[in-house]
Amino acid sequence: MGFGEIVRSKFRASTQRPLRRRRALAFGVAFATLVGGLTLGMPIAANAWACTTVPGSTLTYVNPFVGSANETQDFSCTRPHSGLDFAKPGYDHFNVVAIKAGTVVDRGTESSCHGKYLVVTHTDGVEDAEAHLDTLNYTVNQSVLQGDIEATTGNTGDCAMGYHMHISTARNWDTPASDPWNSTSTTLFDPYAFLTAHGASL
Ligand SMILES: [Zn+2]
Repeated sequence: MGFGEIVRSKFRASTQRPLRRRRALAFGVAFATLVGGLTLGMPIAANAWACTTVPGSTLTYVNPFVGSANETQDFSCTRPHSGLDFAKPGYDHFNVVAIKAGTVVDRGTESSCHGKYLVVTHTDGVEDAEAHLDTLNYTVNQSVLQGDIEATTGNTGDCAMGYHMHISTARNWDTPASDPWNSTSTTLFDPYAFLTAHGASL
């Protein structure tokens, strides 16, 4: 077992998140309380994935959801959260949309942490993986267009402490693998920095 999904105590609309918050969150807490009833997240353990610097791209990306959502946890290479988490208060399930046109390269279930997940690769070499999903609408080798509804959010996988979506961004996604997030060939990078630098408005 490794890293946990830690749900932050303060919900903040992603569209209103100031950049300085990223620095404030650089050293996270080990436990947090979710406002509204759910309680503790899982304790922090050493991260196991490889990280890389945020790559450049000539492509334009969009948010992985429609409308607004609350970011409940951010990414860090130095503490164990491999991506960004988003929740929509009042919604257990909401649509996950394709951040860019691409091809599905992996889908599966990782019960130890990420649950049902989907991975899409893009022409700039960036891959994105969405996790803790409920319904997966695409299979491997299918093409997606930007904005297509790829999946719905869920609460799957042992790291999920509630209904939300998780998005990781990567290069060299290791597939097939029993746990691509923990593969040394999969290199993850900060989805917030990448997406907001290339058109998204998280
Ligand atoms: Zn997450």
